[in-house]
Amino acid sequence: MNGVPESGQSEQWFARALKSLPGGVSSPVRAFRSVGGTPRVIHSAKGAEVIDEDGNKYLDFVGSWGPLILGHAHPVLIQAVRDAAQRGTSFGAPSRPEIELAETIVASYPGMEQVRFVSSGTEAVMSAVRLARGTTGRDLVVKFSGCYHGHVDYLLVAAGSGLATFGTLSSDGVPEAFVELTRVLCLDDDEAIEMLFTKEGDKIAAVIIEPVPANNGLLLQRPKFLATLREQCTKYGALLIFDEVISGFRLGAGGGAEHYGLKPDLATFGKVIGGGMPVGAFGGSREIMKNLAPEGGVYQAGTLSGNPVAMKAGLATLQYLKEQHAWRTLEELGRYAEERLCKVLEKSPVQARLVRIGSIFWIAWGSKIPPRTAENINENAELHYRKVFHGLLKRGIALAPSVYEVSFLSLAHTKNDVDRLAESLADVLEEIFSETNFPENADRTQ
Ligand SMILES: *Cc1c(COP(=O)(O)O)cnc(C)c1O
Repeated sequence: MNGVPESGQSEQWFARALKSLPGGVSSPVRAFRSVGGTPRVIHSAKGAEVIDEDGNKYLDFVGSWGPLILGHAHPVLIQAVRDAAQRGTSFGAPSRPEIELAETIVASYPGMEQVRFVSSGTEAVMSAVRLARGTTGRDLVVKFSGCYHGHVDYLLVAAGSGLATFGTLSSDGVPEAFVELTRVLCLDDDEAIEMLFTKEGDKIAAVIIEPVPANNGLLLQRPKFLATLREQCTKYGALLIFDEVISGFRLGAGGGAEHYGLKPDLATFGKVIGGGMPVGAFGGSREIMKNLAPEGGVYQAGTLSGNPVAMKAGLATLQYLKEQHAWRTLEELGRYAEERLCKVLEKSPVQARLVRIGSIFWIAWGSKIPPRTAENINENAELHYRKVFHGLLKRGIALAPSVYEVSFLSLAHTKNDVDRLAESLADVLEEIFSETNFPENADRTQ
């Protein structure tokens, strides 16, 4: 068993973690580097609450960074995992839950006829891009600054300076040569897209975008911008890839594609479709998917791909969402959260704007209007957020430990939970901004 939580244990465990895990973590943002302080080592979680090794309870809006749309340890999911595990944890062969989950995704997502399962969002993106390159016989990939697609080498590229669409590396260890095949544009800029296609359209294999960019704040796009992408890709024979790893089955069964009424050529999934288990998927029309091995020449494989326990968890999640008309409930709760939080932010001494779509929300600190590009996020946002984050944590509320991460509502959250967040936020704002002198407070208009 896990042991009983008691005071002081979380810090002790994290001190141990620092010895055997780089930064004490298995994924960097968990280390609290951008907000400061010590990460809580988690003992367990249930519903909307996580409990650390000290026994402290936190009302959780991280939701394991997106997958837990049912909340933590939902009984339906736990039962599904238990049942599946009892039949064996991995077969390395086709299984029913895998086929059923594929059918569910195909039936739900615009234009999708086949999917392939992998074990993470990163893997889904990497494989989808390879398939796009193999299908078109072209090499260039276009991405947008402010979108995240996992830690694929040639996508760890940030926007270069000025008008240059050649990116600059955002990680050590990625050869310059990889970056030469990636073009990076700003979101919200239709003209830049058209210019790039005019110049290099016949070399572009794929344009990849989060239709609902939610990894660098929540940068909701104009539908017209996304439509332009669709048009230009079609015109030049490039494939449009919607990275729906966050938005897939979060916004609704048809993800961002359905929301905007657009059909990408390929889409990638992760997070929600695994219900908290390691799952990714990518898919598209049969015409494109037939290029994938064993049918076609684009190689892609995985020992644990389509893992029966993970597939069963995903299947149970998606079935439950559909049966419960969950997206309607989540939209209602989201709208309620928006109302409550907007009221609080109206009184904030520092300009702050709530941005929300469905059950995803984010506060743009220092902004009056919702930013549509990474470049438009206020440069002081991180500074403000650090204080808000710790103020809330002290009050037993967990948001993600980075200003660029969004918050998630789940079916386990209630209006009372939202009220608690709103009241605590009001409290925190009053506390921190009354005792701190922010230069922008002085010249704040209105
Ligand atoms: C989380 C995420 C990924 C990466 O998925 P992992 O499972 O963390 O590898 C890729 N794209 C988007 C849009 C994501 O939100």
